[in-house]
Amino acid sequence: MKKLRLKTSLSLVFAFIAVFTVFLVSVFSGHFINRQFEEYVKQSQVEEAADIAESIASNYDDEKGSFNIDYVHGMGMYALREGFILKLYDNDMNLLWDAQNHDMALCHEIMDGIIDRMQQEMPEIKGDFVTYSYNLKNGEKNCGVLEISYFTPYYLDESQFQFLKALNMILWIVGGISIVVSAFLGFFIAKRITDPISGVIKATTKISEGDYSVRVGTNLKEQETYELATAINGMAEKLNEQEYLRKQMTDDLAHELRTPVTNISSYIEMMIDDIMEPTPERLKSCYDELSRLSGLIADLERLENAESDNIVLNKQDVDLYSLSNSILHSFENSFNEKNISANLYGESAHVDADEMRIGQVITNLLSNAVKYTDENGNISVLVKKERDKAILVVEDTGIGISKEEQSRVFERFYRTDKSRTRKTGGAGIGLSISKAIVQAHEGTIRCESGEDGGSRFIVELPI
Ligand code: ADP
Repeated sequence: MKKLRLKTSLSLVFAFIAVFTVFLVSVFSGHFINRQFEEYVKQSQVEEAADIAESIASNYDDEKGSFNIDYVHGMGMYALREGFILKLYDNDMNLLWDAQNHDMALCHEIMDGIIDRMQQEMPEIKGDFVTYSYNLKNGEKNCGVLEISYFTPYYLDESQFQFLKALNMILWIVGGISIVVSAFLGFFIAKRITDPISGVIKATTKISEGDYSVRVGTNLKEQETYELATAINGMAEKLNEQEYLRKQMTDDLAHELRTPVTNISSYIEMMIDDIMEPTPERLKSCYDELSRLSGLIADLERLENAESDNIVLNKQDVDLYSLSNSILHSFENSFNEKNISANLYGESAHVDADEMRIGQVITNLLSNAVKYTDENGNISVLVKKERDKAILVVEDTGIGISKEEQSRVFERFYRTDKSRTRKTGGAGIGLSISKAIVQAHEGTIRCESGEDGGSRFIVELPI
């Protein structure tokens, strides 16, 4: 099924919300304002009719016992133009003044005008002329009866209609502008969100094709898209590094394997061709090369074991000090060969750990220290306790590790530039194994520059 583009969906949703909101606001506010206005007009009409009745009553001449007909006439004509049709009676219901008798044509013209306009513009209110009777009083005395007919429930004159129309028009214009503006805004925001996503999609497609050099632009305003872009760049960077390490590892492994294999095959070839006698020394030399090979294979296996998630620890009480002491003894020959002086300092520190694996970590650190320290150097091991942790420090006066490489030496197959030039280097596996073991014990391992330019490895384990 063809998928909708995110930009299109977002723009549509924004536009829909805008239309819906504007519609609701317009309808409700329009409806509310119209109702309020109609209520007001209705009220004014009732009050105006009452005012007319009161004004006529106040013109009753008590002494003469009659109304001032000129005044009534003036008031009647004024009222007629306002849509009120008057009929005045005395107390005995004798007709004194009637708008219809007076100017029948004008009366019908005005009434028809109101009815037509109201039926045309507001057919829903279904109004008609209704007559209301007012008992006129002069002081306490009844002085007559006034009948006022007007269009009920209410009617609007021309200017009031214009006002309502203008109001509704303004509401629709504001609504229309809001819809256009929100559609634009929606499109703009959608574009701002989707453009970086498109960039990320392009980049990840390239990455999946093996091009790890691509980077996504990070000049983005939104936190999430910025984080997404940075994460993708981080991932590309890591993959690039991994790729580099993988290539290097293949090189290193090939190199590591080539030397013993070449040596063994040339020995054996010469023995087969009877060029060389298979003396015990020569066989021993072949055996040594084979041991190097199986050592390398064992290293690879140990790495696999140590890095597997469910590494099983056979924990017991271990004193790091005495463990370091006994391992240092096993290195005595290597120290003597290079005339290296090795010392153990500190105090006993007990941890709950897998003795064999922690021993492996100490062995790795010491064997590195020996490998990368020249003749007549120093190696020192320090064990101490600090609050809730035991600390083991192995320091040497060897070739050292540059600041940039200090965190990387724990990566699989990573070897520093300095160490590559040495014959003694391994395949860059030992420290990855050590790190995996320390982490399985919930501890940490890090590397610093030693005081005399060498290296210092610090292992911290919880007590
Ligand atoms: P390797 O078998 O190559 O020694 P490791 O994982 O033990 O592998 O060490 C990784 C790299 O870290 C080494 O190749 C070396 O470059 C560097 N390194 C480790 N220990 C030391 C040290 N004590 N002094 C200098 N460099 C070291």
